Amino acid sequence: MTTITLKPRKDESVRRFHPWIFSGAIAKIDGHATEGDLVRVVDCNGRFLAIGHYQIGSIAVRILSFVDTDIDTQFYRQRIAEAYAMRQALGLTNAVGNDTYRLVHGEGDNLPGLVVDVYADTAVVQAHSVGMHHARQLVADILVEEVEAIKNVYYKSEGTLPYKAPVTPEDGYLIGEAGNCTASENGLKFHVDWLRGQKTGFFIDQRDNRALLEHYAAGRDVLNMFCYTGGFSFYAMRGGAKTVHSVDSSAKAIELTNRNVALNFGDDTRHRAFAIDAFKFLDDIKDKYDLIILDPPAFAKHQSALRNALHGYQKLNAKAFEQIRHGGILFTFSCSQAVNKEQFRLAVFSAAAQARRQVRILHQLTQAPDHPVNIYHPEGEYLKGLVLYVE
Ligand code: SAH
Repeated sequence: MTTITLKPRKDESVRRFHPWIFSGAIAKIDGHATEGDLVRVVDCNGRFLAIGHYQIGSIAVRILSFVDTDIDTQFYRQRIAEAYAMRQALGLTNAVGNDTYRLVHGEGDNLPGLVVDVYADTAVVQAHSVGMHHARQLVADILVEEVEAIKNVYYKSEGTLPYKAPVTPEDGYLIGEAGNCTASENGLKFHVDWLRGQKTGFFIDQRDNRALLEHYAAGRDVLNMFCYTGGFSFYAMRGGAKTVHSVDSSAKAIELTNRNVALNFGDDTRHRAFAIDAFKFLDDIKDKYDLIILDPPAFAKHQSALRNALHGYQKLNAKAFEQIRHGGILFTFSCSQAVNKEQFRLAVFSAAAQARRQVRILHQLTQAPDHPVNIYHPEGEYLKGLVLYVE
Protein backbone atom coordinates (compact mmCIF):
# COMPACT_ATOMS: atom_id res chain seq x y z
CA MET A 1 0.00 0.00 0.00
CA THR A 2 1.29 3.47 -0.85
CA THR A 3 2.38 5.62 2.09
CA ILE A 4 1.67 9.33 2.25
CA THR A 5 3.78 11.43 4.61
CA LEU A 6 2.38 14.67 5.94
CA LYS A 7 4.29 17.90 6.47
CA PRO A 8 5.21 18.84 10.05
CA ARG A 9 2.15 20.00 12.08
CA LYS A 10 -0.21 18.96 9.29
CA ASP A 11 -1.14 15.92 11.38
CA GLU A 12 -3.04 18.06 13.89
CA SER A 13 -6.43 17.90 12.18
CA VAL A 14 -6.02 14.15 11.65
CA ARG A 15 -5.36 13.70 15.37
CA ARG A 16 -8.65 15.53 15.93
CA PHE A 17 -10.28 12.93 13.63
CA HIS A 18 -11.08 15.26 10.76
CA PRO A 19 -11.74 12.84 7.88
CA TRP A 20 -10.08 14.79 5.04
CA ILE A 21 -6.45 15.36 4.13
CA PHE A 22 -5.89 18.29 1.81
CA SER A 23 -3.27 18.04 -0.91
CA GLY A 24 -1.34 20.97 0.60
CA ALA A 25 -0.66 18.93 3.77
CA ILE A 26 1.28 16.25 1.91
CA ALA A 27 5.10 16.21 2.07
CA LYS A 28 5.65 13.13 -0.08
CA ILE A 29 4.02 10.08 -1.62
CA ASP A 30 6.07 6.86 -1.54
CA GLY A 31 5.34 4.78 -4.57
CA HIS A 32 2.54 5.30 -7.00
CA ALA A 33 -1.01 6.08 -5.98
CA THR A 34 -3.89 5.92 -8.43
CA GLU A 35 -7.14 7.66 -7.65
CA GLY A 36 -9.33 5.30 -5.59
CA ASP A 37 -6.40 3.36 -4.07
CA LEU A 38 -6.16 2.71 -0.36
CA VAL A 39 -3.26 4.68 1.13
CA ARG A 40 -1.59 4.80 4.55
CA VAL A 41 -1.05 8.23 6.03
CA VAL A 42 1.85 8.86 8.43
CA ASP A 43 3.19 11.95 10.22
CA CYS A 44 6.56 13.55 9.48
CA ASN A 45 8.19 11.06 11.85
CA GLY A 46 6.68 8.08 10.08
CA ARG A 47 4.06 7.35 12.76
CA PHE A 48 0.77 5.86 11.56
CA LEU A 49 -2.18 8.26 11.41
CA ALA A 50 -4.88 6.84 9.16
CA ILE A 51 -5.94 4.78 6.16
CA GLY A 52 -8.13 6.19 3.44
CA HIS A 53 -9.03 6.49 -0.21
CA TYR A 54 -6.68 8.51 -2.35
CA GLN A 55 -8.19 11.15 -4.57
CA ILE A 56 -6.86 13.70 -7.07
CA GLY A 57 -7.84 17.24 -6.14
CA SER A 58 -7.95 19.51 -3.15
CA ILE A 59 -9.16 16.71 -0.83
CA ALA A 60 -6.37 14.18 -1.37
CA VAL A 61 -7.40 11.49 1.12
CA ARG A 62 -10.80 10.62 2.55
CA ILE A 63 -10.07 8.77 5.76
CA LEU A 64 -11.79 5.45 6.43
CA SER A 65 -10.00 4.48 9.63
CA PHE A 66 -7.82 6.09 12.27
CA VAL A 67 -6.62 2.67 13.44
CA ASP A 68 -4.40 0.38 11.43
CA THR A 69 -6.87 -2.16 10.11
CA ASP A 70 -7.72 -4.00 6.90
CA ILE A 71 -10.30 -2.26 4.77
CA ASP A 72 -12.07 -5.45 3.79
CA THR A 73 -15.57 -6.94 3.73
CA GLN A 74 -15.58 -7.14 7.52
CA PHE A 75 -14.72 -3.44 7.77
CA TYR A 76 -17.59 -2.38 5.49
CA ARG A 77 -19.97 -4.81 7.15
CA GLN A 78 -19.28 -3.34 10.56
CA ARG A 79 -19.64 0.28 9.45
CA ILE A 80 -22.91 -0.47 7.65
CA ALA A 81 -24.22 -2.41 10.64
CA GLU A 82 -23.39 0.57 12.88
CA ALA A 83 -25.19 2.92 10.51
CA TYR A 84 -28.23 0.63 10.48
CA ALA A 85 -28.25 0.36 14.27
CA MET A 86 -28.42 4.15 14.48
CA ARG A 87 -31.45 4.26 12.12
CA GLN A 88 -33.08 1.59 14.27
CA ALA A 89 -32.44 3.78 17.31
CA LEU A 90 -34.14 6.63 15.46
CA GLY A 91 -37.18 4.45 14.92
CA LEU A 92 -36.93 4.75 11.16
CA THR A 93 -36.49 1.14 10.11
CA ASN A 94 -39.76 -0.33 11.30
CA ALA A 95 -41.97 2.69 11.46
CA VAL A 96 -45.61 2.46 10.48
CA GLY A 97 -46.19 4.54 7.35
CA ASN A 98 -42.50 5.24 6.78
CA ASP A 99 -40.16 3.12 4.65
CA THR A 100 -37.85 5.90 3.47
CA TYR A 101 -34.61 6.86 5.17
CA ARG A 102 -30.93 7.53 4.57
CA LEU A 103 -28.95 4.52 5.71
CA VAL A 104 -25.42 5.81 5.04
CA HIS A 105 -24.51 9.49 5.05
CA GLY A 106 -20.81 9.69 4.06
CA GLU A 107 -18.59 11.24 6.72
CA GLY A 108 -21.55 11.29 9.12
CA ASP A 109 -21.39 7.49 9.17
CA ASN A 110 -17.61 7.22 8.92
CA LEU A 111 -17.86 6.11 5.31
CA PRO A 112 -16.67 9.21 3.38
CA GLY A 113 -17.77 9.21 -0.23
CA LEU A 114 -20.70 6.82 0.23
CA VAL A 115 -24.42 7.57 0.35
CA VAL A 116 -27.18 4.96 0.64
CA ASP A 117 -30.87 5.87 0.60
CA VAL A 118 -33.58 3.28 1.24
CA TYR A 119 -36.98 3.43 -0.47
CA ALA A 120 -39.21 0.53 0.55
CA ASP A 121 -37.32 -2.58 -0.69
CA THR A 122 -34.74 -0.74 -2.81
CA ALA A 123 -31.47 0.86 -1.75
CA VAL A 124 -29.96 3.54 -3.97
CA VAL A 125 -26.18 3.72 -3.65
CA GLN A 126 -24.20 6.78 -4.60
CA ALA A 127 -20.40 7.00 -4.73
CA HIS A 128 -18.73 10.38 -4.44
CA SER A 129 -15.20 8.97 -4.61
CA VAL A 130 -13.46 6.48 -6.88
CA GLY A 131 -12.56 4.39 -3.84
CA MET A 132 -16.24 3.93 -3.02
CA HIS A 133 -16.97 3.28 -6.69
CA HIS A 134 -14.59 0.31 -6.51
CA ALA A 135 -16.34 -0.92 -3.35
CA ARG A 136 -19.87 -0.71 -4.84
CA GLN A 137 -20.58 -4.42 -5.33
CA LEU A 138 -19.19 -5.27 -1.91
CA VAL A 139 -21.43 -2.61 -0.38
CA ALA A 140 -24.48 -3.87 -2.31
CA ASP A 141 -23.93 -7.45 -1.15
CA ILE A 142 -23.61 -6.33 2.47
CA LEU A 143 -26.75 -4.20 2.24
CA VAL A 144 -28.99 -7.12 1.29
CA GLU A 145 -27.36 -9.35 3.89
CA GLU A 146 -27.55 -6.88 6.77
CA VAL A 147 -30.88 -5.19 6.10
CA GLU A 148 -33.78 -7.59 5.71
CA ALA A 149 -36.03 -5.14 3.91
CA ILE A 150 -33.56 -4.46 1.07
CA LYS A 151 -34.11 -6.64 -2.00
CA ASN A 152 -32.80 -4.45 -4.82
CA VAL A 153 -29.74 -2.23 -5.01
CA TYR A 154 -29.51 0.48 -7.64
CA TYR A 155 -26.21 2.21 -8.28
CA LYS A 156 -26.40 5.86 -9.28
CA SER A 157 -23.06 7.62 -9.58
CA GLU A 158 -22.81 8.98 -13.11
CA GLY A 159 -23.35 12.46 -11.78
CA THR A 160 -21.59 12.28 -8.43
CA LEU A 161 -18.07 10.97 -9.04
CA PRO A 162 -15.36 13.60 -9.45
CA TYR A 163 -15.58 15.07 -12.92
CA LYS A 164 -12.10 13.95 -14.00
CA ALA A 165 -12.21 10.52 -12.31
CA PRO A 166 -10.42 7.83 -14.32
CA VAL A 167 -13.49 5.57 -14.33
CA THR A 168 -16.76 5.63 -16.24
CA PRO A 169 -19.50 4.61 -13.85
CA GLU A 170 -22.67 3.17 -15.30
CA ASP A 171 -25.90 3.58 -13.43
CA GLY A 172 -27.84 0.35 -13.03
CA TYR A 173 -28.95 -2.42 -10.71
CA LEU A 174 -26.18 -4.17 -8.77
CA ILE A 175 -28.73 -6.54 -7.25
CA GLY A 176 -32.30 -7.33 -8.22
CA GLU A 177 -34.41 -5.15 -10.41
CA ALA A 178 -37.37 -2.87 -9.90
CA GLY A 179 -39.15 -0.16 -11.77
CA ASN A 180 -40.25 3.07 -10.21
CA CYS A 181 -41.56 2.58 -6.77
CA THR A 182 -44.00 4.12 -4.39
CA ALA A 183 -42.50 4.81 -0.99
CA SER A 184 -43.93 6.41 2.13
CA GLU A 185 -42.85 9.07 4.54
CA ASN A 186 -44.80 9.82 7.71
CA GLY A 187 -47.85 8.15 6.20
CA LEU A 188 -47.73 10.10 2.92
CA LYS A 189 -46.98 8.32 -0.35
CA PHE A 190 -44.75 9.43 -3.20
CA HIS A 191 -43.30 8.03 -6.40
CA VAL A 192 -39.54 7.74 -6.45
CA ASP A 193 -37.76 7.81 -9.76
CA TRP A 194 -34.14 7.05 -8.99
CA LEU A 195 -33.49 6.42 -12.68
CA ARG A 196 -34.20 9.95 -13.74
CA GLY A 197 -34.77 11.97 -10.57
CA GLN A 198 -32.36 14.35 -8.86
CA LYS A 199 -30.10 13.05 -6.11
CA THR A 200 -31.30 9.52 -5.34
CA GLY A 201 -34.88 10.46 -6.27
CA PHE A 202 -36.18 12.27 -3.21
CA PHE A 203 -34.93 14.83 -0.70
CA ILE A 204 -35.11 12.77 2.47
CA ASP A 205 -33.20 15.36 4.49
CA GLN A 206 -36.30 17.60 4.75
CA ARG A 207 -38.54 14.95 6.40
CA ASP A 208 -38.76 16.54 9.86
CA ASN A 209 -39.03 20.05 8.42
CA ARG A 210 -41.94 18.96 6.25
CA ALA A 211 -43.62 17.52 9.35
CA LEU A 212 -43.15 20.86 11.12
CA LEU A 213 -44.69 22.68 8.16
CA GLU A 214 -47.78 20.48 8.37
CA HIS A 215 -48.27 21.80 11.89
CA TYR A 216 -48.48 25.43 10.64
CA ALA A 217 -50.53 24.84 7.48
CA ALA A 218 -54.14 24.87 8.73
CA GLY A 219 -56.24 27.50 7.01
CA ARG A 220 -53.29 29.06 5.21
CA ASP A 221 -52.62 29.88 1.56
CA VAL A 222 -49.35 28.08 0.95
CA LEU A 223 -46.70 28.73 -1.67
CA ASN A 224 -44.10 25.96 -2.08
CA MET A 225 -41.21 27.37 -4.13
CA PHE A 226 -38.67 24.95 -5.69
CA CYS A 227 -41.10 22.13 -4.97
CA TYR A 228 -39.29 19.29 -6.86
CA THR A 229 -41.42 16.19 -6.03
CA GLY A 230 -43.86 18.30 -3.99
CA GLY A 231 -42.90 17.06 -0.52
CA PHE A 232 -43.81 20.24 1.35
CA SER A 233 -47.02 20.57 -0.70
CA PHE A 234 -48.59 17.30 0.32
CA TYR A 235 -47.72 17.82 3.98
CA ALA A 236 -49.35 21.27 3.79
CA MET A 237 -52.47 19.69 2.31
CA ARG A 238 -52.70 17.09 5.05
CA GLY A 239 -52.22 19.90 7.54
CA GLY A 240 -55.42 21.53 6.31
CA ALA A 241 -54.09 24.31 4.08
CA LYS A 242 -56.74 26.38 2.31
CA THR A 243 -54.80 26.38 -0.98
CA VAL A 244 -51.36 25.09 -2.00
CA HIS A 245 -49.41 26.37 -4.99
CA SER A 246 -46.25 24.53 -6.04
CA VAL A 247 -43.58 26.12 -8.26
CA ASP A 248 -40.54 24.63 -9.99
CA SER A 249 -38.76 25.58 -13.20
CA SER A 250 -38.59 21.92 -14.24
CA ALA A 251 -41.65 20.57 -16.05
CA LYS A 252 -40.66 17.07 -14.92
CA ALA A 253 -40.73 18.20 -11.29
CA ILE A 254 -44.19 19.70 -11.73
CA GLU A 255 -45.41 16.46 -13.28
CA LEU A 256 -44.01 14.53 -10.29
CA THR A 257 -45.61 16.95 -7.84
CA ASN A 258 -49.03 16.61 -9.50
CA ARG A 259 -48.67 12.84 -9.49
CA ASN A 260 -47.76 12.76 -5.82
CA VAL A 261 -50.57 15.07 -4.81
CA ALA A 262 -53.01 12.85 -6.74
CA LEU A 263 -51.57 9.75 -5.10
CA ASN A 264 -52.42 11.13 -1.65
CA PHE A 265 -55.41 13.38 -2.23
CA GLY A 266 -56.91 12.40 -5.60
CA ASP A 267 -58.36 15.29 -7.52
CA ASP A 268 -58.05 17.92 -4.79
CA THR A 269 -58.77 21.36 -6.19
CA ARG A 270 -56.86 23.09 -3.39
CA HIS A 271 -53.62 22.33 -5.24
CA ARG A 272 -52.14 23.92 -8.36
CA ALA A 273 -48.63 23.60 -9.78
CA PHE A 274 -46.70 25.98 -12.04
CA ALA A 275 -43.64 25.22 -14.19
CA ILE A 276 -41.97 28.62 -14.14
CA ASP A 277 -38.78 30.30 -12.96
CA ALA A 278 -38.96 31.11 -9.25
CA PHE A 279 -37.68 34.65 -9.50
CA LYS A 280 -40.19 35.41 -12.23
CA PHE A 281 -43.07 33.90 -10.26
CA LEU A 282 -42.09 35.85 -7.13
CA ASP A 283 -42.10 39.13 -9.02
CA ASP A 284 -45.81 39.44 -8.56
CA ILE A 285 -47.38 37.34 -5.81
CA LYS A 286 -48.73 40.42 -4.00
CA ASP A 287 -50.30 39.39 -0.69
CA LYS A 288 -51.72 36.10 -1.93
CA TYR A 289 -49.85 33.85 0.53
CA ASP A 290 -49.40 33.55 4.27
CA LEU A 291 -47.13 30.51 4.34
CA ILE A 292 -44.18 30.43 1.94
CA ILE A 293 -41.46 27.80 1.55
CA LEU A 294 -38.18 28.71 -0.12
CA ASP A 295 -36.02 25.62 -0.65
CA PRO A 296 -33.76 26.49 -3.58
CA PRO A 297 -30.97 24.31 -4.99
CA ALA A 298 -27.45 24.97 -3.65
CA PHE A 299 -26.56 28.47 -4.86
CA ALA A 300 -22.89 27.90 -3.94
CA LYS A 301 -21.39 24.53 -4.79
CA HIS A 302 -17.91 25.88 -4.02
CA GLN A 303 -16.35 28.52 -1.81
CA SER A 304 -15.57 30.63 -4.90
CA ALA A 305 -19.27 31.15 -5.56
CA LEU A 306 -20.02 32.29 -2.02
CA ARG A 307 -20.54 36.02 -2.64
CA ASN A 308 -22.96 35.47 -5.50
CA ALA A 309 -24.77 32.82 -3.52
CA LEU A 310 -25.31 35.08 -0.51
CA HIS A 311 -26.58 37.78 -2.83
CA GLY A 312 -28.95 35.21 -4.38
CA TYR A 313 -30.35 34.19 -0.99
CA GLN A 314 -30.86 37.82 -0.03
CA LYS A 315 -32.66 38.64 -3.27
CA LEU A 316 -34.90 35.58 -3.07
CA ASN A 317 -35.84 36.11 0.57
CA ALA A 318 -36.44 39.83 0.06
CA LYS A 319 -39.05 39.03 -2.59
CA ALA A 320 -40.87 36.81 -0.11
CA PHE A 321 -40.63 39.30 2.78
CA GLU A 322 -41.90 42.13 0.59
CA GLN A 323 -45.09 40.30 -0.32
CA ILE A 324 -46.00 37.75 2.34
CA ARG A 325 -49.20 38.63 4.23
CA HIS A 326 -49.07 40.13 7.70
CA GLY A 327 -48.89 37.32 10.21
CA GLY A 328 -47.33 35.12 7.53
CA ILE A 329 -44.83 32.35 8.12
CA LEU A 330 -41.73 31.81 6.00
CA PHE A 331 -39.81 28.54 5.87
CA THR A 332 -36.49 29.43 4.24
CA PHE A 333 -33.57 27.08 3.52
CA SER A 334 -30.06 26.84 2.17
CA CYS A 335 -28.48 23.50 1.30
CA SER A 336 -25.14 24.99 0.16
CA GLN A 337 -22.31 23.42 2.09
CA ALA A 338 -20.14 26.46 1.35
CA VAL A 339 -22.59 28.78 3.15
CA ASN A 340 -22.50 28.49 6.92
CA LYS A 341 -25.32 29.09 9.38
CA GLU A 342 -24.25 32.64 10.29
CA GLN A 343 -23.79 33.68 6.67
CA PHE A 344 -27.21 32.35 5.73
CA ARG A 345 -28.83 34.06 8.69
CA LEU A 346 -27.15 37.32 7.76
CA ALA A 347 -28.43 37.06 4.17
CA VAL A 348 -31.98 36.48 5.45
CA PHE A 349 -31.60 39.27 8.01
CA SER A 350 -30.50 41.67 5.24
CA ALA A 351 -33.49 40.63 3.16
CA ALA A 352 -35.88 41.33 6.04
CA ALA A 353 -34.33 44.76 6.62
CA GLN A 354 -34.51 45.53 2.90
CA ALA A 355 -38.24 44.75 2.97
CA ARG A 356 -38.64 46.70 6.26
CA ARG A 357 -40.62 43.91 7.93
CA GLN A 358 -40.74 42.89 11.59
CA VAL A 359 -39.47 39.33 11.68
CA ARG A 360 -39.06 36.83 14.50
CA ILE A 361 -37.24 33.52 14.38
CA LEU A 362 -39.52 30.67 15.49
CA HIS A 363 -37.35 27.66 14.65
CA GLN A 364 -33.82 27.02 13.46
CA LEU A 365 -33.72 23.89 11.35
CA THR A 366 -31.22 21.48 9.94
CA GLN A 367 -31.16 18.13 8.14
CA ALA A 368 -33.03 15.11 9.53
CA PRO A 369 -31.03 12.94 11.96
CA ASP A 370 -30.56 10.11 9.45
CA HIS A 371 -28.15 12.63 7.85
CA PRO A 372 -25.95 12.85 10.96
CA VAL A 373 -23.07 15.27 11.37
CA ASN A 374 -19.80 13.71 12.42
CA ILE A 375 -18.74 15.94 15.33
CA TYR A 376 -15.19 16.09 13.95
CA HIS A 377 -16.46 17.17 10.52
CA PRO A 378 -18.54 20.33 10.98
CA GLU A 379 -18.73 20.75 7.18
CA GLY A 380 -21.27 17.94 7.29
CA GLU A 381 -23.95 20.31 8.60
CA TYR A 382 -25.07 21.47 5.19
CA LEU A 383 -28.82 22.13 5.50
CA LYS A 384 -29.82 25.34 7.26
CA GLY A 385 -33.36 26.52 7.72
CA LEU A 386 -35.23 29.28 9.50
CA VAL A 387 -38.92 29.46 10.27
CA LEU A 388 -39.89 33.11 10.55
CA TYR A 389 -42.99 34.93 11.70
CA VAL A 390 -43.52 38.05 9.63
CA GLU A 391 -45.73 40.70 11.18
N1 SAH B 1 -38.07 21.34 -1.75
C1 SAH B 1 -37.78 20.14 -2.49
C2 SAH B 1 -36.34 20.07 -2.97
C3 SAH B 1 -35.89 21.24 -3.81
S1 SAH B 1 -34.58 20.87 -4.87
C4 SAH B 1 -38.17 18.91 -1.65
O1 SAH B 1 -38.55 19.05 -0.48
O2 SAH B 1 -38.07 17.81 -2.16
C5 SAH B 1 -34.46 22.31 -5.83
C6 SAH B 1 -35.48 22.43 -6.95
O3 SAH B 1 -35.36 23.73 -7.47
C7 SAH B 1 -35.30 21.48 -8.14
O4 SAH B 1 -36.45 20.74 -8.32
C8 SAH B 1 -35.06 22.42 -9.34
O5 SAH B 1 -35.71 21.97 -10.53
C9 SAH B 1 -35.65 23.71 -8.86
N2 SAH B 1 -35.11 24.93 -9.46
C10 SAH B 1 -33.81 25.22 -9.73
N3 SAH B 1 -33.70 26.49 -10.19
C11 SAH B 1 -34.95 27.01 -10.22
C12 SAH B 1 -35.50 28.28 -10.58
N4 SAH B 1 -34.71 29.27 -11.03
N5 SAH B 1 -36.82 28.46 -10.47
C13 SAH B 1 -37.62 27.46 -10.01
N6 SAH B 1 -37.17 26.25 -9.66
C14 SAH B 1 -35.85 26.03 -9.76
